[in-house]
Amino acid sequence: MTLKLTPRMVPSPLWGVALRTDLGSRWLPEVSRPIREYQSLCEICGGYGADSPTGWRTCCDEDWDYSDADPIVEEVLRILGDTFDVAGVTALVTPVNVLNIASRLGSAPFVARLVDLQCVCWRCNQVIHYGHTETLNKGSDWLATRAARAHAARVNKVSDERVAKIIYGAKVIWAIRSCLPWSIEWTGWERIRNVKAGRGRRRADPGALPAASFQFGAE
Ligand SMILES: [Zn+2]
Repeated sequence: MTLKLTPRMVPSPLWGVALRTDLGSRWLPEVSRPIREYQSLCEICGGYGADSPTGWRTCCDEDWDYSDADPIVEEVLRILGDTFDVAGVTALVTPVNVLNIASRLGSAPFVARLVDLQCVCWRCNQVIHYGHTETLNKGSDWLATRAARAHAARVNKVSDERVAKIIYGAKVIWAIRSCLPWSIEWTGWERIRNVKAGRGRRRADPGALPAASFQFGAE
């Protein structure tokens, strides 16, 4: 079963590397606002981010593809086998071990590719970037991760237990990807923006939405 909403945490070598960061002041008018005005509703769950506690309801998400690492991930998971617990993962998933596996498989280079720009609501965003969401729990009684897991269960129509396994698996994959040296490829971002925001099918009529759904302040 294909899940609509899963964590896709950014490998740590790529933290801070984003089209949004690179474009600076151009990001909001040239990418984020056009995408969110024409998509309007969250492309994953179909909502408009109601009940946002942070002041922003939707954002423009950068969807990156890390599939160059798939052979490494598959090999690590094969080796882990039944030792897919924290101790087993911790012992195997180290930079030395993962790079050795990569060298043996000859899978390099590893290129992260920007494949989509999409309007997502704050709830889906907290599932996508679950590692960051965990940091929101600290010093706060707002249980961000519990809310994120509940949202993932609702959107995917799966149990809480299944969500817990999905998140654990995503963290293992993230840890493997984080051991690899990445370069980036985002030259197609203008084409994506134009197709989705300017010339593509309009997915929802913004006029039919509550005015409060158009808050762009947090971007
Ligand atoms: Zn959503």
